[in-house]
Amino acid sequence: MQLVGKKEQNARRGVGSRGRFGVALAALLVAALGTACGSSEADKTPTKPGKPKAGSEAGAAGAPGNQAALAKQKEMARLAAVKRWGLAKPPLIAPAAPKHKPEIETREGFEVDDHEGLPPVFTTIPTEEKVVFLTIDDGAEKDPEFLRMMKELDIPYTAFLSDYLVRDNYPYFKEMQAAGVTLNNHTLNHRYMPALSYEKQRQEICGQQDNIQKRFGKRPTVFRPPYGNYNDDTLRAAASCGIKHVPLWNEEVFPDRMDYREWDRDVHPGDIILTHFRGREDWKGTMPDMIRQVMKTVTDKGYAVGRLEDYL
Ligand SMILES: [Zn+2]
Repeated sequence: MQLVGKKEQNARRGVGSRGRFGVALAALLVAALGTACGSSEADKTPTKPGKPKAGSEAGAAGAPGNQAALAKQKEMARLAAVKRWGLAKPPLIAPAAPKHKPEIETREGFEVDDHEGLPPVFTTIPTEEKVVFLTIDDGAEKDPEFLRMMKELDIPYTAFLSDYLVRDNYPYFKEMQAAGVTLNNHTLNHRYMPALSYEKQRQEICGQQDNIQKRFGKRPTVFRPPYGNYNDDTLRAAASCGIKHVPLWNEEVFPDRMDYREWDRDVHPGDIILTHFRGREDWKGTMPDMIRQVMKTVTDKGYAVGRLEDYL
């Protein structure tokens, strides 16, 4: 992984996080218990964390006892999914989204010459929580099992799409988006950016901005250059078409292993993990195999997978 980093081995930025976050499940239970104490008000309180889906049962399910029951039901379903998908352990529950977004700066050694006003380039999110972020690139493999698995396990991730790999099956990524996944920019044709002129880079990045907006109805604000390679022009071009953040990664995961950027070969709070939409032609396993691998590694180390967008 040849990036612009000069001090890769010791440059992890450890800016402190802001505020403490509760554990989502705990919050859910507290909410349920809290409502139970004020039961006379319960009927007038239709929306609380853990609220039921709208429907004929909504009124009854909004009652305090049922909220706790719903939380329990949800947890039971998750544990059943853990078993069904062959995960070694249940994934840890991610901390609640931070109340204030952390200030994200460009990682030391990753700056371009004139970086004033350009989007930050980073490999980790400043936080003290044991949370990591899963990012999946390119878009070659379109495995329906993977979509089902992630939905049932309720594991968040963020996609970086390159149009030349995605365009034969937009509906697959529409389904992904409908499940709550943010679709971000990974250029039209996955070229090595530093070899291209500013204008060509702009076509690659802004072209994919327009394309994602047209196909999926939402213009990205997050961009990852192919191979993690970029220069001044890349960041300037990205900024010119609305990009606010350029996340790279500290770990890369495959179905059979995890590779580390840092000398300590370990995961750290806020680390961004890279993987790819790939199948058996490209690596030793399937997308679900890769997920089992990454979840085993991070869960064993005591980390939850969070939603990157909550921090950007
Ligand atoms: Zn890529």
